[in-house]
Amino acid sequence: MLPLDFIDLMAPQMGAELDAFCRALQQEPPVSVRLNDKLPEEALRAEGLPLAQPVPWAEDGRYLSQRPQFTLDPLFHAGCYYVQEASSMYVQEVLRTYVPRDAVVLDLCAAPGGKSTLISQYLGSEGLLLSNEVVRQRVFILSENMQKWGNGNTVVTHNLPRDFGERLPNLFDCILVDAPCSGEGMFRKDAKAVDEWSLRNVEMCARRQQEILMDVWDALRPGGILIYSTCTFNGQEDEQNACFIRDRLGAELLPLPQKAGWNLTITTGAHFYPHKVQGEGFYICAFRKHEEPYQPLRTKGEKKKTAVPVECEAELRNWLLHPEEWAIRQEDRFSLAYPLRYKELIDFLSTRLTCISTGFGVGEMRGKSPAPQHALAMAKDFRKEAFRQVALDLPTAQSYLRSEAVTLPDQPFGFLLLTYSGIPLGFVKNIGNHCNNLYPKEWRIRNL
Ligand code: SAM
Repeated sequence: MLPLDFIDLMAPQMGAELDAFCRALQQEPPVSVRLNDKLPEEALRAEGLPLAQPVPWAEDGRYLSQRPQFTLDPLFHAGCYYVQEASSMYVQEVLRTYVPRDAVVLDLCAAPGGKSTLISQYLGSEGLLLSNEVVRQRVFILSENMQKWGNGNTVVTHNLPRDFGERLPNLFDCILVDAPCSGEGMFRKDAKAVDEWSLRNVEMCARRQQEILMDVWDALRPGGILIYSTCTFNGQEDEQNACFIRDRLGAELLPLPQKAGWNLTITTGAHFYPHKVQGEGFYICAFRKHEEPYQPLRTKGEKKKTAVPVECEAELRNWLLHPEEWAIRQEDRFSLAYPLRYKELIDFLSTRLTCISTGFGVGEMRGKSPAPQHALAMAKDFRKEAFRQVALDLPTAQSYLRSEAVTLPDQPFGFLLLTYSGIPLGFVKNIGNHCNNLYPKEWRIRNL
């Protein structure tokens, strides 16, 4: 049941469409996924993912003809696709229209990582993405999803919005604020969103969104692009905040792409209404910050830290497809690879922010030689041929993902790369009578 106050609030906005809108909000939502370029679509279909028609505004988006049990699919755990509702994939169109692929992008409210994995796919290997999440319990699932997606030009941070505005002025070419909101667009997916909804909560969310925007604003460079989105319908959190960004923060409101058949409702931004599109409720708008002369802050005036020499660096580099493109840094026993092109900037960011993961983990020193880290197996720049590969059948792959011991009696001792459908799942260390399972314990599947 929809809250009566909500229906009253939406009545002027929806006009004659109110009934259709309310009916659609009580129907089953469609299921959709966004494909990673790790694996061709045909291979996913051959493995049984029920891919149906494309999402009109997202080239990598596909609706599914039914909802599979994703936890049973090893390719889901290997980051070959991300389960994401269709409307929010429109971020891709906004990026394509206004943001170059070599941009430095901040996704401020990023967990669990739907839009960050999308931005990551858009930037490919060219730009740099900072994915931030302020809530501690949510930052680890964000880091996990980013590692599984596999692009090394990503830093996951755990900071307040004001940390960016105060410590990193004029740094980002683009900032996405996918704001915490009253969640009206999630009513049909999440009964809690209905229970927690109230007019007071809408007001509270709208105020908090303005605070977040003000706090982060200085981190956007003049001429940079701000994308603001919510999964709610009401004008207080959407249109009024768009006007707040334009008038109070000082930005040009940008037109958004619309094509025949998309059925978006364009106001200050684009509304995705469930009676008009196949997707959840979503609102998005985009701005260009007014130009003014500025000095990029980037790396000025930082004391250089003495780099810790990386143990066994040549061996670690041998595990990468393009070793010349990566800087490798040692932190305690762990070595991580991050793009050489952004080395100075990333080193600088790590002095200003709480970084949860930077690039991807390559190796962990155990005794005199390194053991491969799980993130290496997920990384797109991983050179699989550096390890002996063992292809698993479905039951063994599921058992591995449950962190159970795997027995591979015919295989040599040492580190082995396990694959499913040609895609790396992770490593084991074969010690003879069994293999030590190196799948991260905290990621293991519990309900298979
Ligand atoms: N962008 C994410 C995605 O696509 O998967 C969804 C983000 S969700 C709509 C909003 C996020 O904002 C949540 O992860 C929440 O923890 C975070 N958040 C909550 N309060 C916040 C605050 N005061 N400042 C910044 N982020 C906040």
